Amino acid sequence: MISGFSYMKVKTIQDAVSGLAKGSARIHAGGTDLLGCLQDHVFSSDMVVSISGLKELKGTRETPEGGLSVGALNTITDISESPVIRDRYPALAQAAAQVASPQLRNQGTIGGNLCQKPRCWYYRGEFHCLRKGGDRCYAVAGESYYHCIFGGDGCYIVHPSDTAPALVAYGAAVNIIGPVGMRTVSLDHFYVSPSKDVTKETVLEPGEIVTGIVLPPPVKGLKSSYRKVRARRSWDFALAGVALSLQISEGKVTNARIVLSGAAPIPWLAFDAEKALTGSILDSDSIKRTAALTVNRALPLKHNAYKIPLFIGMIEEELINISKA
Ligand SMILES: Cc1cc2nc3c(=O)[nH]c(=O)nc-3n(C[C@H](O)[C@H](O)[C@H](O)COP(=O)(O)OP(=O)(O)OC[C@H]3O[C@@H](n4cnc5c(N)ncnc54)[C@H](O)[C@@H]3O)c2cc1C
Ligand code: SF4
Repeated sequence: MISGFSYMKVKTIQDAVSGLAKGSARIHAGGTDLLGCLQDHVFSSDMVVSISGLKELKGTRETPEGGLSVGALNTITDISESPVIRDRYPALAQAAAQVASPQLRNQGTIGGNLCQKPRCWYYRGEFHCLRKGGDRCYAVAGESYYHCIFGGDGCYIVHPSDTAPALVAYGAAVNIIGPVGMRTVSLDHFYVSPSKDVTKETVLEPGEIVTGIVLPPPVKGLKSSYRKVRARRSWDFALAGVALSLQISEGKVTNARIVLSGAAPIPWLAFDAEKALTGSILDSDSIKRTAALTVNRALPLKHNAYKIPLFIGMIEEELINISKA
C-alpha cells in the first residue's frame, strides 16, 4: 500500500523547483516508475510534484550547432517515432522502440527513463540492502542471474534504461535546473557508480530536474545501432545490450563508441574494445577481436557468467550488421 502524500501539479518550472524544495518531495513525469517505487517502499514521499503539464519540457528542436534538443517530457513513443531521430540518431530510436510495452512507452517519458530506479529484486523487495543504507548486498550470496558483470563494487545492479546507452554513445548531455540554477552534464558523467556512492544512481542533487537532452550534430560517416537481448520477446529489461556509434572513413573506423546495457550499474563504455577497433577495417578478424575485448574485464557473480558469451555473440552479430549496412 502507498503511504499518503500531497500532490501538486505545477504550471511553471520555477514552481516545480520551489515545490521540490519541501520535505521528501519527488518528481512525477509519466509516473510509470515513481508509483511502483512508492508502492514497493523503495522510498517514501510526502509530496509528489507533477511536471507533466510543463509545455516547455516537450517537443524537439534543432540546436544552432546542428544537433537536436529533446525535451525531458517527450514520451518514449515520441522518441521512437520521431522522423528526425530515426533518421539522424537511429540507435536512440531503436533503443526507445525496445523499452517495455506500447502502453508504458506512451506514458513514460525520456526524462523519467534516464532517472528511473534500478530493478534489483532485493532492492524492490523488503530487503534493507546496501543501496538503501543497509549493511550488505543480498545478491552476492543470493540470486544474481540479472545482475552486473562489470563495475559492481558492493552493489551489483544493472542500469535499467535502454535509451541511456544510446545517448552516451552519441555523446549527449542533459540540461538540469535546480535550487542553485542551471547546469549541463555530459551523460557519461551523469551516472554514479557504486564505488563513488552506493546510495545514488545519478549526480542529481535534491530538487534538481532534468529539463532536456542535447544531442551533438551527427558526424560524417556515422553508423549507429542499438541491440538488446531479453529473456522474453515481449516487454522486458535487457539481459545484454549494446549501443554502437562508429565513424567510418574510407572503410576504416576512425572513432568508436561501444556502450553496454544489462552489464553494469551505469551505461558501460567498453574502452579496450573501442581502442582496438579504432583505426581498423571492419572485417571478421577485427569484429572477433572487438567482441572478445568487450568482456575481457568481466567479473561475473555466481549465476550470471552466461552473460559473457551472450555479449560476445551479440556484439559480433551487431558489428557484422553494421559492416553490411
Ligand atoms: C513493467 C515495466 C517494464 C519496463 N521495461 C523497461 C525496459 O525494457 N527498458 C527501459 O529502459 N525501461 C523500462 N521500464 C522503465 C520505464 O521505461 C520507465 O518507467 C519510464 O521511462 C519512466 O518514465 P516516467 O515518465 O513514467 O517516469 P516517472 O515514473 O514519473 O519517474 C521515474 C523516476 O525519475 C524521476 N524523474 C522523472 N522525470 C524526471 C526529470 N525530468 N528530472 C529528474 N527526475 C525525474 C522521478 O522522480 C522518479 O524517481 C519499464 C517499466 C515497467 C513498469
Ligand atoms: S545489487 Fe545493489 S540494490 Fe541489489 S541487493 Fe545488492 S546492494 Fe541492493
